[in-house]
Amino acid sequence: MTTESRAAAAPALGNVKMIIGGEPVDAADGQTFDVINPATGELLARAPLGGKVDVDRAVAAAQKALDDPRGWSTWSAAKRGRTLQKLSTLVKQNLEELAQLESRNVGKPISGARGEALGVSLVFEYYAGAANKVFGETIPVSKPGLDFTLREPIGVVGLIVPWNFPMNMASWKLGPALAAGNATILKPASYTPLSALRLGELALEAGFPPGVVNVITGPGGTAGAALAGHPGVGKIAFTGETTTGQEIMRLAAGNVKKISLELGGKSPNIVFADADLEKFAAESPYSVFDNAGQDCCARSRIFVQDTVHDRVVELFTEATRKVVVGDPSDDKTEMGSLVSQRQRERVADYIAIGREEGAELVYGGDAPTGEEFDNGAYLMPTIFDACRTDMRIVREEIFGPVVAIIPFKDEAEALRLANDTPYGLSGSVWSRDIGRALRVVKGLKAGVLSVNSNSSVHTEAPFGGYKMSGIGRELGMHAVELYTEVKNVYVDLS
Ligand code: NAD
Repeated sequence: MTTESRAAAAPALGNVKMIIGGEPVDAADGQTFDVINPATGELLARAPLGGKVDVDRAVAAAQKALDDPRGWSTWSAAKRGRTLQKLSTLVKQNLEELAQLESRNVGKPISGARGEALGVSLVFEYYAGAANKVFGETIPVSKPGLDFTLREPIGVVGLIVPWNFPMNMASWKLGPALAAGNATILKPASYTPLSALRLGELALEAGFPPGVVNVITGPGGTAGAALAGHPGVGKIAFTGETTTGQEIMRLAAGNVKKISLELGGKSPNIVFADADLEKFAAESPYSVFDNAGQDCCARSRIFVQDTVHDRVVELFTEATRKVVVGDPSDDKTEMGSLVSQRQRERVADYIAIGREEGAELVYGGDAPTGEEFDNGAYLMPTIFDACRTDMRIVREEIFGPVVAIIPFKDEAEALRLANDTPYGLSGSVWSRDIGRALRVVKGLKAGVLSVNSNSSVHTEAPFGGYKMSGIGRELGMHAVELYTEVKNVYVDLS
């Protein structure tokens, strides 16, 4: 669909609103932007193009909620937990609607989107239980008095999330922020605002007071930057590209905001000759082609021991052929479209770069053929072999369905090559020798590792990156630390 015909069409979901101070609102200047289904080009909705004035309104609403003498700040931790549990239940009750929204807005398969919506409910359930288990310590200081600590909410916190897993990334931040008693301003990516807005409505329905969960839609460069630089915001939790994270650090410096950053990745999948190669091959296509490769944990570099290289490439390619690429609304689809035509072009450019750099194209490399793919941002899963760590397709985060295979000789070389990256988010090691697997795990400079598995995300366990992949750990009880200040109190008992 062209831009002109889109402009004429009525959006399928109408004009959606931001949520500020518990009210559905338009942008102060009335401007909107189009929200598109990237698998079809269909206009899904028009969303408010929020800007600095709207961020000011949201910060004021959040502060008002914190200042209410009989309001949010006086709630017991148990009541915060019960309300989070209500939100978890509401997400489950509205699971199909949330999954449909996410699938249509991101172009991701409906089956995966249903799993993600369930994941959101489970994250809220976890932090419902966590709310009244956040407490301080008593400390045996040298003076004769009593010393103890209090864990207090930071205050107004800004939550800026990306477009690849919009509602999951929102829940990872909302859950611990609300459990700890903060007032939040959520800013989804402009490609994908719909599930965040629905989560905001459900939070109000669950009983969070007006101003405790605000949702601002608008471009990162204006609305996002205004939030990151706002003197009334005490903390920014951000997930997105490493370069944006660096900009957020600069913007946050003005009032020395607390920051936590979940940034890019270029994660290794290291396969030793003694591994269960069939298991590796059956499971690993999903570790890089899931969500069309738009996954910060994507195992986009496969390091294979040279003695089993040919066998692994054969098995992995065979398994990749079985990945069902198609209409995201079809239950059988395993890989849908990319998030936008722009992202598709970016990834296609990387495929061209890989070819120019001399990598050997083993599979994919183009869009799937067929009328049903004509208007969507589709690409086939793409496998490059004979890659080297100095190639751009091996060094840079492509954020699309492209994997690079690199052979290695021994354990020491595998570790050296796998660590030869500015990123350090996740990774996998495949070997039947547990000693070797754990030596490699210890040597890898990354925050989220698995052995004989590609599983990276567990609600109860910390998630985050080394090096340029980020600062701080989300999920589990580690995330609560990101949303609390520690106050030390000494009492003279004499
Ligand atoms: P992005 O950095 O372009 O945008 C992320 C968010 O930041 C969006 O809401 C955007 O509007 C906002 N933003 C953009 N510029 C801003 C600015 N100057 N100030 C404030 N906010 C701004 O990232 P994306 O393209 O939406 O997402 C893809 C990236 O996210 C990839 O690099 C991926 O690896 C990363 N990611 C990381 C994790 C993780 O946990 N480490 C998880 C998911 C995605």
